[in-house]
Amino acid sequence: MVTNSRQMPRRAAGNLFVVSAPSGAGKTTLCKEIIDFFPGLRHSVSYTTRPPRSGEVAGKDYNFVSRDVFDLMVAEGAFVEWAEVHGNRYGTAIRTLDEAQSAGYDILLEIDCQGAAQIKKNYRQGVFIFILPPDFSELKRRLERRGTDSPEVIARRIENARDEVRESIWYDYLLVNDDFAEALEKFKSIVVAEHCRTAWVLGLVPAEFGLSNTTEKT
Ligand code: 5GP
Repeated sequence: MVTNSRQMPRRAAGNLFVVSAPSGAGKTTLCKEIIDFFPGLRHSVSYTTRPPRSGEVAGKDYNFVSRDVFDLMVAEGAFVEWAEVHGNRYGTAIRTLDEAQSAGYDILLEIDCQGAAQIKKNYRQGVFIFILPPDFSELKRRLERRGTDSPEVIARRIENARDEVRESIWYDYLLVNDDFAEALEKFKSIVVAEHCRTAWVLGLVPAEFGLSNTTEKT
């Protein structure tokens, strides 16, 4: 059990965790638990043109904007990545990442594979995690049980899921979310393991050790 590593060491710049999954794989619930567990880890609030679902809070779940505002932000170069997913646009603002990272927080991005691939090009130090459902029929059951989408939207999401899971092979970690508690423990272990990396720890050890941080990825 990962129980005593919550107070992560803070450094000048935090880690970047990028999490993708087909809808219904349990990504949002897992990420929420992870963020609640690690106080030094912040959720990146994306911009989207999708209308809010019931219960979603503007500025917390997403920054909900019109298509015009979104396109203006694209034109201004405000996004580190953006993509069209299931007919709506989603993007991560450069400012969101910079603010969290310069404050020494780790940041967690819940984004689709197209966006993750864009981040991979620009942030070599990112940690890429893909959450897989046990199988497609379970994915369909979960989407139906969630009750937030129409049958047409569910069908589209399942179709997209077939393409998305093919992308999972280039991620650093694959988490199969069959048993939720087990998947959560594994996710916590990934975060803790990333804080045991030589490059990360070298930024924290006392200067008297005489270990300069030459291995840190830039
Ligand atoms: P949902 O509408 O179900 O909240 O999200 C649909 C998809 O958009 C999910 O795969 C989610 O991870 C992705 N998504 C959310 N925010 C972003 C973002 O900022 N960029 C990209 N590329 N995808 C995002």
